[in-house]
Amino acid sequence: MSEKPRLLVVSAPSGCGKGTILSEVFRDREVFYSVSCTTRKPRPGEREDIDYHYISDSKFGEMIENNEFLEYACYADHSYGTPAAPVRENLAQGRNVVLEIETDGAFQVKKAMPEAVLIFILPPSVAELDRRLHKRNTEPEEVIRKRVAQAAAEIAKAVDYDYVIMNDALEEAVADFTAVLDGGAERFRAANTDVKKMINEVLENA
Ligand code: 5GP
Repeated sequence: MSEKPRLLVVSAPSGCGKGTILSEVFRDREVFYSVSCTTRKPRPGEREDIDYHYISDSKFGEMIENNEFLEYACYADHSYGTPAAPVRENLAQGRNVVLEIETDGAFQVKKAMPEAVLIFILPPSVAELDRRLHKRNTEPEEVIRKRVAQAAAEIAKAVDYDYVIMNDALEEAVADFTAVLDGGAERFRAANTDVKKMINEVLENA
């Protein structure tokens, strides 16, 4: 393909199902998923260097000092950052690159690389997100509460993304995401009045 490779920045509150959507969307496309560094501990089933590079606070600080991150942010008491080199290398080799990161980091990327496309995946409601996190059963109640509060704050920032996609049914979300990838479908633009309304409804359904 001679098309210019794209840098896609995807944000979705944890428990939103973004992993499932992305693996469907990119099943037949060449793509590099950036592996982030984090200071949080692996959850059961997560694998070193595949889900994250799990590093210490001091190593994280060292990487900031050495300018090794494209962006970094703090989320629910832990640090997360995107190593810059693999992103730049893969784009230079003509591969699409996907970052799955939270909103502060997404805006940092847009600033550094304005060609990046920011896509936000919405849960049907904040209440549903809370239910999904409880069902996943990987975190204590207090952590879930913190994550739900942080999710609501993040959803409010979706209006500043390029595109917003609702994940109430997997198949539809995959089709919507693909439409954005293939043609930048207008109806998913965050600036669209209907999309703004949808974001407000998700927030009201807390
Ligand atoms: P989790 O701990 O649930 O894996 O991730 C928590 C949040 O951190 C999610 O919103 C996830 O997208 C975000 N995140 C993961 N990696 C990075 C990163 O490298 N940079 C930033 N800014 N956020 C990240």
